[in-house]
Amino acid sequence: VNGPAPDRARGGTPGPVSNPARTRRTGDADDGTAANADADVDVLIVGAGPTGLLAACELLRRQVRVRIIDRDPRPISGNKALSLWPRALDILQDVGVGQGIVRGSTRIDAFSYFSGGRPLATFPFPPDLASRTLPQPVTERLLTQRLNQLGGKPERGVRMLVLDGIDFSGRIDRAARLTAVLEHHDGTVERLRVPYVIGADGAGSAVRGQLGIGFPGSTYDLAFALVDARVEGDLPADRVQYHQNPSGTLVIVPMPDGVFRFLSVLPEGATQRADIAGMQTIVEQRGPAGVRLTEPVWETVFRVHARQAADFQVGPVFLMGDAAHVHSPAGGQGMNNGLQDAHNLAWKLASVIHGRSPVSLLQGYGAERAEATRRIVRDTSIQTRAWMAQGPARVLARDTAFKLLERSGAVVKLYTPVMAGRRLAYPPERQTQLPGRSPVPGRRTGCGLRGGGIRVGGVFPREVALRHKISGPQADPLAWTVAVLPRFGRPARLVPRIKARTAHLPGVRVVSLGPHDVPCRRPGYWLIRPDGHIAAHGHALDLHRLEAELTRVLNPLRIR
Ligand SMILES: Cc1cc2nc3c(=O)[nH]c(=O)nc-3n(C[C@H](O)[C@H](O)[C@H](O)COP(=O)(O)OP(=O)(O)OC[C@H]3O[C@@H](n4cnc5c(N)ncnc54)[C@H](O)[C@@H]3O)c2cc1C
Repeated sequence: VNGPAPDRARGGTPGPVSNPARTRRTGDADDGTAANADADVDVLIVGAGPTGLLAACELLRRQVRVRIIDRDPRPISGNKALSLWPRALDILQDVGVGQGIVRGSTRIDAFSYFSGGRPLATFPFPPDLASRTLPQPVTERLLTQRLNQLGGKPERGVRMLVLDGIDFSGRIDRAARLTAVLEHHDGTVERLRVPYVIGADGAGSAVRGQLGIGFPGSTYDLAFALVDARVEGDLPADRVQYHQNPSGTLVIVPMPDGVFRFLSVLPEGATQRADIAGMQTIVEQRGPAGVRLTEPVWETVFRVHARQAADFQVGPVFLMGDAAHVHSPAGGQGMNNGLQDAHNLAWKLASVIHGRSPVSLLQGYGAERAEATRRIVRDTSIQTRAWMAQGPARVLARDTAFKLLERSGAVVKLYTPVMAGRRLAYPPERQTQLPGRSPVPGRRTGCGLRGGGIRVGGVFPREVALRHKISGPQADPLAWTVAVLPRFGRPARLVPRIKARTAHLPGVRVVSLGPHDVPCRRPGYWLIRPDGHIAAHGHALDLHRLEAELTRVLNPLRIR
């Protein structure tokens, strides 16, 4: 990891997180507010939920100076998000909390669907696509502990009130600092001048409000009741059950420590409350026989929204997590998507702050994450409508569709990898991201294998990335990698050629792949971003394309 850019480092490596007691100067201003004009902070993160905490860890492990605040004096107590899908687990592993997550969580191997009490379909997950359940407070605690190890600490009881000096022209110029007005729990008001702000402050985001960004979408008519409880009776500990019934759907999710989540659509005008007795009635009406809820752990009623911010970024202010999108809990994607936002932005922001990349790199954040979110909102809405299907014709159509999907294996083959986050790709926008045409007429270019599961924009195969330290906790979190497939059995010319062209670039690694690492037959390269996504792919005649891509994202670049 490189230290901060020399022009900003004021003598030695600065402490990554400012201590508010140290930086807040009370009584500086006539109006009784505290002025904090010279705080050594690069990024203010508003909100210490899972998204903000991950963003803070990701920035800190890249030596960016961060402050993270939360208006709530205490960490979250309600269980809320449970599901962690494989791509989110990769991200958490890379940041250094993977072992704690796996140790504490429950593995989910299948989704089983029932209709009117009869088994309808089961969709097993291939082992590498299994999800895990872990209560959100535990995930947040593990991230907070990691943040502490990295030298950071969420400042609790600090609320962001106003953002002053936002440049609405969209220019991102780190010299033009914003002022964040922060209210501390003792009533002190602090004015913090800071170049970048991340709004990870949840669905009612104050940052989004300050930016004047709309949150279009809809709210479903029905309410959901949720009870996490210990039980007596037989429930599988490795699969989620969906009991679909004319009066509504009941979802049962295994959690760690013998607890189960019962989540139910409440019929319109229903009087059931989210308590153990009400949920027991729903289980008896819709769920498996012989299950008794004995000890409640957490209970709530909530409404489901499907909304997405009209923009994820205005100049140097970014929205992420629930501040940028909220959607149905169907498929358990909400928190996972927020973690993806934090992962997507942090390396870009760090690279720009350290002077390695032009600010234009940051413009990719909103475009990439908005499109990925649009697909998640669409998919979770489809699932939610299936839960809410009523009337014999709709129920028959839904049930027939589920049976067909089970028989064809389509869900397991096509949709499970999507839920797992394994199909997440940021589609290429430029020709230079793709292989060129062969100059020899009739000669094919490309890998010689169709797709092979590696596509530009997608995540480079995880196992190979871990083996070559392209990703993983040991990887350099700011490095771009050129993974090269040489011509085996002959002098490997491609690797030295690429090494020569990239030798004087800070933070570009050239890695030589083995013969079985990728399903490709022709010598070639994959340019891999610090977040593991493939930025470009090409072959021996495409090195000018590789140069063009590197020139766009790395700064300064002196390839000859
Ligand atoms: C019942 C329920 C079940 C769910 N189940 C799942 C699931 O199984 N899987 C899944 O992936 N997702 C699930 N979700 C969604 C998940 O909980 C959210 O997506 C997740 O909490 C979003 O995290 P976040 O960090 O973006 O926002 P939040 O967790 O909302 O955190 C925002 C933080 O910002 C702070 N804040 C707000 N305003 C300010 C301000 N002005 N100044 C300072 N701080 C501020 C808040 O105090 C809060 O701590 C569920 C949600 C609910 C309600």
